[in-house]
Amino acid sequence: MRVAIIGMGTAGVSLLKELVKYDEFSNIQVDVYDNPKNMGQGVPFQNDSDQLLINLPAAQMSLNLDNKREFYEWYEQQSEFKFSNPEYLPRFIFGHYMKDYVEKYNQVYDNIHVIKKEVSEIFIESDIGQTDVNYYVCTSKAMADCNLYDVVFVTIGTLSYHDPYQLKGTEGYIPTPYPTYNTLDEVEDTDRIAIIGTGLASLDVIRYVTTHHPQLPITVASRKGNLPSVRGEMPDVEFKYLTPEHFNKLKSENFGNVPLDAALDLFLKDCKRYDIPIRALIHRKVNDPIKDLTYDLEHPEELGKFQSMLELAKENLNWIWNSFSREDQKRFLKDYQAILKENSNPMPPRTAKLIIDHLQNGIIEIQSGLEDVYHDEKQFCFKYSNRADDVEKFDIVINATGSKTQLSDLDSDDQLVLNMENRQVVQAHPLGGIQIVPETNQIISPRYGTLKHMYALGQLTNGINQSRNGVTMIVKQAVTIINQLLNPK
Ligand SMILES: Cc1cc2nc3c(=O)[nH]c(=O)nc-3n(C[C@H](O)[C@H](O)[C@H](O)COP(=O)(O)OP(=O)(O)OC[C@H]3O[C@@H](n4cnc5c(N)ncnc54)[C@H](O)[C@@H]3O)c2cc1C
Repeated sequence: MRVAIIGMGTAGVSLLKELVKYDEFSNIQVDVYDNPKNMGQGVPFQNDSDQLLINLPAAQMSLNLDNKREFYEWYEQQSEFKFSNPEYLPRFIFGHYMKDYVEKYNQVYDNIHVIKKEVSEIFIESDIGQTDVNYYVCTSKAMADCNLYDVVFVTIGTLSYHDPYQLKGTEGYIPTPYPTYNTLDEVEDTDRIAIIGTGLASLDVIRYVTTHHPQLPITVASRKGNLPSVRGEMPDVEFKYLTPEHFNKLKSENFGNVPLDAALDLFLKDCKRYDIPIRALIHRKVNDPIKDLTYDLEHPEELGKFQSMLELAKENLNWIWNSFSREDQKRFLKDYQAILKENSNPMPPRTAKLIIDHLQNGIIEIQSGLEDVYHDEKQFCFKYSNRADDVEKFDIVINATGSKTQLSDLDSDDQLVLNMENRQVVQAHPLGGIQIVPETNQIISPRYGTLKHMYALGQLTNGINQSRNGVTMIVKQAVTIINQLLNPK
C-alpha cells in the first residue's frame, strides 16, 4: 500500500504516529510532504517568539490520547529548552516535540520517506466508463513529478488569512501575524502600529510587538473589541443529557434531525447539574477590556466549569453539529457561535494580567467599532462606527483577523485547494471548508462521489468539523481514521 500525507503539522504527524502502531505498517510505503520549514512542526507550533504560549497547561496537551502528560514528560527529559515557568510552555516547544517523532520515525523506518517539498496538485485519474479511481500527488506542474498512491491524507492546516479591507500588497500592511518575530522586520521605531482583530492571534502579536516596539502605544482594533475569555479552573465534566442516546431518540421523532432548541435544552440541563450561572456568564461582558478581564480572573471557578462544558461540547461537536438541519446550523452560527468562540480557547491567566497591565500603562489601547481601513497613499486610515468623522492614522497595520473558512474567498495563497476544486476532487461545504463524511473524514468529490481512500483533517473541514480544530480533537480523528483504514469491519 502506498500512502501520502500532505502537510506534516499536528494532523499529519498524528496520522503517521498511528500508522506505525499497526502490524500492517511494514507493508506500507509512506511519503510525507511539507516545506522544509514546517516539516513536523506545522504552522501554529513553528519556531517563533517564546512569548506565544500554548493555550492550555502543558501537562494537558499531547499527541498521545492515553497519556495527557506525554508532551510535558518529553519537555522535562530534554535539555535544549528550559523555562522558569513551564506550566504554560511556548508553542514552538510543542512543535519540537512533534518534530522529534518525525525525525525518530525517519531514522527507524525505511518505509517512511520525508519529502521536503510542497504539493501543488492532487488529482484523480479514472478510465472512461470505470468507477475505479487512482490518486496522484504532484510537487510541480510537470506530470513527471506526480506520484500514484492508494491512500492520500490532506492535512494542510489553516487556510490563508482574511484580508477584510483588501489591503494585501500595500506597503506597511502585514497580511499574516506569523511568525510574529518577522512582523517588525520593516518597521521603524517611530512608526505607529495598529493590529486588526482582537482574537487569539491578536494576543500573540500584542505580546511580541509591545516588547519589541516599546516607543509608541499600539492600537488594537476590531468591530466588537472583545478579547477572548480567561482560562478558569477547568474541572473534568461529563454530559448526562447531551448524549448520543438522547440525540438518537430526538432524531427518530424529528425527521432525522435534532432540533437546535432541544439540543440547547439538554446542554442547559447538564450545565444546571454543575450549578453554572449560565445567563450571568453569557451576559458578563461590559465592553471594557480591563473590567471584562478582571471579572474573568476573579471568577475562575464558575467560568472554568462553563469552559469545561463548552470544551466537552466541542469535543463532541462532530455528532452534535451534524445532527442539526442546515437551517438550525445557520441559526447556531448566527446566534450561538460567538458565545462558544468567546468562551472557549481561553487565554492563560498570566496573558490576561499582562494585557491589563499594558492597558493600564497606556502601552496598548483597544478600540471597538472598526468599520473601515483604507490607505490614503501615505498612511492607513481607521474609521469607527462609534466616532463619526474621526479618522485614526497608522504607518503599519498587522492583520490578525483570522484565517479564511470559505472556498469562495480563496486566492492564489491557497492554490492547492483551488486546483483541487477546479479538478473536481473537492467541493465547497456551504458552511465552510470542503465536503467530507463526518464519521470517516473521507472527502466527497463532486465528480467521483465519496473517495474511499482520500481523507481530509483539520481546518479545511471546518463546515463539518465546526470549532473542532484543537490538538486533542485532531489526534482523536487521526486515531479513528487509521483504525478504520487498517481494521475495517
Ligand atoms: C495561532 C494558532 C495557535 C493555536 N494554538 C493552539 C493551542 O495552543 N492548542 C491547541 O490545542 N490548538 C491550537 N491551535 C489549533 C491548531 O490549529 C491545531 O491544534 C493544529 O495545530 C492544527 O493542525 P493541522 O495539522 O491541521 O495544521 P498545521 O499544524 O498547521 O499543519 C499543516 C501543515 O501543512 C503544511 N502544508 C500546507 N500546504 C501544503 C502543501 N501544499 N504541501 C505540503 N504541505 C503543506 C503546512 O506547511 C503545515 O506544516 C492553534 C491554532 C492557531 C492558528
